[in-house]
Amino acid sequence: MATKRDYYEVLGVAKNASGDEIKKAYRKVAIKFHPDKNPDDPTAEDKFKEAAEAYEVLSDQNKRARYDQYGHQGMGGNGGGPNMEDIFSQFGDIFGGGGFEGFFGGGGRGQGGRRVRKGSNLRIKLKLDLEEVANGVEKKIKVKRYVACNTCSGTGAKNGTDLRDCGTCHGQGQVKRVVNTMLGQMVSTATCPTCNGEGKVVTSKCDVCHGEGRQLHEEVIPINIPAGVAEGMQLSMNGKGNYPERGGVAGDLLIQIEEEPHELLKRDGNNIMFEQYISFVDAALGASIEVPTIEGKVKIKVDPGTQPGKILRLRGKGIKDINGYGRGDQLIHLSVWTPKNVTGEERELLEKLRNAQNFTPNPGKNEKGFFEKVKEYFQ
Ligand SMILES: [Zn+2]
Ligand SMILES: [Zn+2]
Repeated sequence: MATKRDYYEVLGVAKNASGDEIKKAYRKVAIKFHPDKNPDDPTAEDKFKEAAEAYEVLSDQNKRARYDQYGHQGMGGNGGGPNMEDIFSQFGDIFGGGGFEGFFGGGGRGQGGRRVRKGSNLRIKLKLDLEEVANGVEKKIKVKRYVACNTCSGTGAKNGTDLRDCGTCHGQGQVKRVVNTMLGQMVSTATCPTCNGEGKVVTSKCDVCHGEGRQLHEEVIPINIPAGVAEGMQLSMNGKGNYPERGGVAGDLLIQIEEEPHELLKRDGNNIMFEQYISFVDAALGASIEVPTIEGKVKIKVDPGTQPGKILRLRGKGIKDINGYGRGDQLIHLSVWTPKNVTGEERELLEKLRNAQNFTPNPGKNEKGFFEKVKEYFQ
């Protein structure tokens, strides 16, 4: 382990310095050696950490007493010191509510203090038919959006160099404001009014985008729509919205789903509902009939003696679950069609049947009633 400097020396305070003096001294050293302020000085971070370690010990009564008595040996000697995250997290106490970042008027480290600006989101509505909802689909959609001007690379400046740091905020994009509060003076930050937070001022504008740093551009964007989406759902594609003026990251493309109703099939969650009318002859004698599904026509069998209201289930012919939990079914509700107009000949046939033995309603004990059918349906 390399020999450590004396903690009092690191912070530049006397051995008998008060807690307040230590705090003030640390503040000064921390600001001086903050890594963001010294991007070209590789030793700054070490000095910054050294100061944080010294402060951690000297600001704590017990640790300080131990250090005064035993020196560095008394501190456990693991030598690691606090890590950067710990250092930043303790700044809340030292620099007041805004923390260290707030104090410097930055957002995120390593950006030179400037916040990354995000462009506006783009919203579109996308109509899907039932087949597309059921299976998912790739759509290619045409959107008009702002992209970075490729003449000036989004800077808005004629030559890449026709930019200077904003004089008001010195390139920070934010200005500090000292506010008097009950607790004393607080430093808060606000977006620089001169450059609108951009930190830079264009001295000579790009001819193509007139200094905006972006251009409208028509683009075909492929969108993968997962199976199982529903009316009103919103999908989002990061970075496919508008690019902001003069640098930053593009907003998002928000896609709102609209379901186009199907002519025959109705959606109920992941199931498809279909109502099929059969004649009472087919209901009585049984039949093989064709029903539409989202995958085309399918033949189904109607058993002899089928009562109206019977529900048939076509497993796996519904909509794929959006979370991958399998696939819904198609439920076929059988209704018996009663003829509305009959010819003389038909009437004769029906009259003969009217009093026929098996044409009198005679629900036995085993006949499923309405409630059983509903229960069956929800199973
Ligand atoms: Zn341009
Ligand atoms: Zn400014």
